[in-house]
Amino acid sequence: MYKIKVGISACLLGAPVRYDGGHKRSPFCERELAEFFEYHPVCPEMAIGLGTPRPTIRLVKRQGEVRAEASNGSFDVTDQLIAFSEQKVRELDFISGYILCAKSPSCGMERVKVYGGAQGAAKEGVGLFAQALMQAHPLLPVEEEGRLNDPILRENFVTRVFAYHDWQVLSQSPLTAARLIAFHSRYKYLVLAHAPKAYRALGKLLGSLKGRDLAEVAKEYISGLMQALTLRANRKGHTNVLQHLQGYFKRQLSTGQREELAEVIHKYRVGLLPLLVPLTLIRHYLRQFPNPYLAQQVYLEPHPETLKLRYSL
Ligand code: SF4
Repeated sequence: MYKIKVGISACLLGAPVRYDGGHKRSPFCERELAEFFEYHPVCPEMAIGLGTPRPTIRLVKRQGEVRAEASNGSFDVTDQLIAFSEQKVRELDFISGYILCAKSPSCGMERVKVYGGAQGAAKEGVGLFAQALMQAHPLLPVEEEGRLNDPILRENFVTRVFAYHDWQVLSQSPLTAARLIAFHSRYKYLVLAHAPKAYRALGKLLGSLKGRDLAEVAKEYISGLMQALTLRANRKGHTNVLQHLQGYFKRQLSTGQREELAEVIHKYRVGLLPLLVPLTLIRHYLRQFPNPYLAQQVYLEPHPETLKLRYSL
């Protein structure tokens, strides 16, 4: 089966690359996600020649500049880490997402300790590799492994990886206005669930293609789409979409079926049922009353069902 290419901090896959020769194996990444992701592991600290065991590194602010130094002060690897990171992230232009190890002065995505301030250590830094990665690929879905324990963040990250990959596949062939509009048609309800404002803005953008440079519009579009998906879809957003979907069946369903669907959506809205219940019912009606426009909606299955990511939404 084809797998989506995703970068990952090597220690999360169990590689013995941490300063003490240990690892930070993530069972979720290694087992569940690996079924769909082909990992490209990177350990920046090993890559610049620091072996194991090694002194720990930390970020230190010196004259306004953040440096990566050994905690015992014996060396400074800022320049090596930056040079490696800048080159490596350029090579990683084919990946559709990245999972980083938290708190690391190399890989930490946010709130990494920076020493040297008046208050001692402040959790305000970004690992040097992570920083280069996010600067080079601002639309790339990036998440820290620890945050993937949160079901909402986990589902959001995987949704974004699949969407970004979908866009990368689309971009492999010459883009036409028709292909761009067809792509957006499939994402409409997913965007609506995440960000109604972006839903309107993206619709407007694609509604005024005449006279505009298509490559420019495409850039604006994917930037808007990825930003929209970064916002988490809440119960209100999902309920709004479910009610839109419900509308497609109003002529085919009996009064009793319509009432049942409305009740299930209401129970989801107030937190009595998980999202999967109204979605399953809608998919059931979609099989019974086929509708090509609805059937292509990514919202109905933004990632493989076997990942069970919507069970706790
Ligand atoms: S956090 Fe990054 S630098 Fe540290 S061991 Fe893991 S992969 Fe290597």
